[in-house]
Amino acid sequence: MKAIRYHVPGGVEVFRYEDRPDLVPGAGEAVVRIGATGVNFIEVYQRKGQYAEPLPAVPGSEAAGVVMAVGAGVSTVRVGDRVASESFHGSYAECAIAPAERLVRFGPDVSMETAAAVMLQGLTAHYLLYSTYPIRAGDWCVVHAAAGGVGLLLCQLARNLGAHVIATASSDAKRSLALGAGAEHAVDYAGLVAAVQEYTAGRGVDVVYDSVGQATFTDSLRCIRRRGTLALFGQSSGPVPPVDPQVLNRHGSLFLTRPTLAHHVATTTELAERSSALFTWIRDKTLTVHVDRRYRLANAAEAHVALESRSTTGKLLLIP
Ligand code: NDP
Repeated sequence: MKAIRYHVPGGVEVFRYEDRPDLVPGAGEAVVRIGATGVNFIEVYQRKGQYAEPLPAVPGSEAAGVVMAVGAGVSTVRVGDRVASESFHGSYAECAIAPAERLVRFGPDVSMETAAAVMLQGLTAHYLLYSTYPIRAGDWCVVHAAAGGVGLLLCQLARNLGAHVIATASSDAKRSLALGAGAEHAVDYAGLVAAVQEYTAGRGVDVVYDSVGQATFTDSLRCIRRRGTLALFGQSSGPVPPVDPQVLNRHGSLFLTRPTLAHHVATTTELAERSSALFTWIRDKTLTVHVDRRYRLANAAEAHVALESRSTTGKLLLIP
């Protein structure tokens, strides 16, 4: 089978499109023929060596496909099942292995592309809105990079819950997308603090969902009401430097959290509950996945260039 591998960390030139041996599932595992693989920012950090991992590596953890083989002791999925997961070991490939208990089954009413697209970014939007700061009708929130993969899902789900969303994005086209996804207001980053003051009559928002990090952190703090929450869940613009806890005091006894998906789907029960909710909303069309671009597996480097260049919206997929 074919797979993307890299042997040293670096720029996109380290990606190789290689022949790999066929996969054999171990006990408790399944081999899945990949129909669509999700491209996520974490794979950029891993490729660059910012998040260390053993090399050589096949990138990717989010995908959907069809079960081809199962290992000993697997009873939750069968050959032929349509499945998706955020826990594949190397999904930039024609086939990939995952622990069977991390596979979510879905029917023909959901496409491979949509299923692949929500396993990482959708589950993230879910835990941010339901667990990190459980948002309620009437709450105000800021969603940064609102036309991005996680951003567009956050806008829709927050709006569906009755919250007021103030979106940031870097261009008119991106802001239009965010408004279409349910944001009430969409502004550029520079105008955010003034806009929040105006739209919330000086109170501030209840929560900021911040995936941008370094470039937005300070303004995020300035937007939040007393005792509100900053959910810093990404660093598309770079890592936030060390923070003096007194900053949280000065901005109104704020709560700062730096959550990650793995801690919110650690049990199969939690994975099942969150993914079941997402698939229900996809089926009843209260959640729409915006696939911006599809690339052939061999062209994974182009997908990374696009993601890093800030030119993308919504989801990027690799199609083997
Ligand atoms: P996006 O689709 O949001 O793409 C990144 C966006 O960030 C860009 O389109 C851009 O939007 C904005 N951005 C702002 N500054 C920069 C910059 N300097 N370089 C590149 N982009 C910039 O990506 P994802 O939805 O896949 O992920 C967003 C972030 O969330 C990533 O940091 C990712 O690692 C993190 N994440 C964290 C998870 C967790 O559980 N903690 C899970 C999933 C993702 P604009 O042009 O509008 O500014």
